[in-house]
Amino acid sequence: MGSTCYLISDLHLTSDRPDTFKAFAKFVSGEAAKLKLYILGDLFEAWLGDDDDSSLANEVRIILKTFTDTGGQLYIMPGNRDFLLGEAFCDTVGATLLTDPTVHIIGSKPTLLMHGDTLCTDDTEYQKFRKISRDPSWKTNVLSKSLEERRDLAKNLRQMSSEANSNKAESIMDVNTSTVDEFMGLYDITQLIHGHTHRPQHHQETFGDRWVLGAWEKEAWILKITDDERLLKAIRI
Ligand code: MN
Repeated sequence: MGSTCYLISDLHLTSDRPDTFKAFAKFVSGEAAKLKLYILGDLFEAWLGDDDDSSLANEVRIILKTFTDTGGQLYIMPGNRDFLLGEAFCDTVGATLLTDPTVHIIGSKPTLLMHGDTLCTDDTEYQKFRKISRDPSWKTNVLSKSLEERRDLAKNLRQMSSEANSNKAESIMDVNTSTVDEFMGLYDITQLIHGHTHRPQHHQETFGDRWVLGAWEKEAWILKITDDERLLKAIRI
């Protein structure tokens, strides 16, 4: 059991979905307790910065701190929704912050871990926004605003993104397979795990296995990996 590890992403936790939060709390304190857990982005539907003081943010802090205090190992990678999540949040909950991408040994294999948005290179409009919003001066500027101002900004960004996405072809919102090959080749690995696209599945790619995690909407998607087992499963929320 020592090497059992779980990978999840795209929970999109928000105060509007107490059922998802409950499923998450149950998983972290139950099946995943005392084990290794990777959260590969978009734990939150929106994240205003590590000073976020919403009751949801605080409840998640408590759950994750309890997880690490009782022997769980926690790794968190920010996604495109919660890209302002940083060291301060991770310190509070006893987690290690992962940069995107990162190579870790998972199930005895060097594995490339990503949120997945950087693989969606057909969505040029989104990639442009991504570049701007990851700029340190953009971040500093946003984080200097009050929580209230940032709350409005996040709302506007979400609205703009859902309007833009409703006009995009399905294929544009998925990964570009040449980009997948480029990353897997560049990092010289045979296992890639990512989320973001909400298309949970196992793919056989040119350089090896690609596991796509699922979003926590109707089901909680969990990838369980041991030295000799890889299991992508969905638990009804
Ligand atoms: Mn995402």
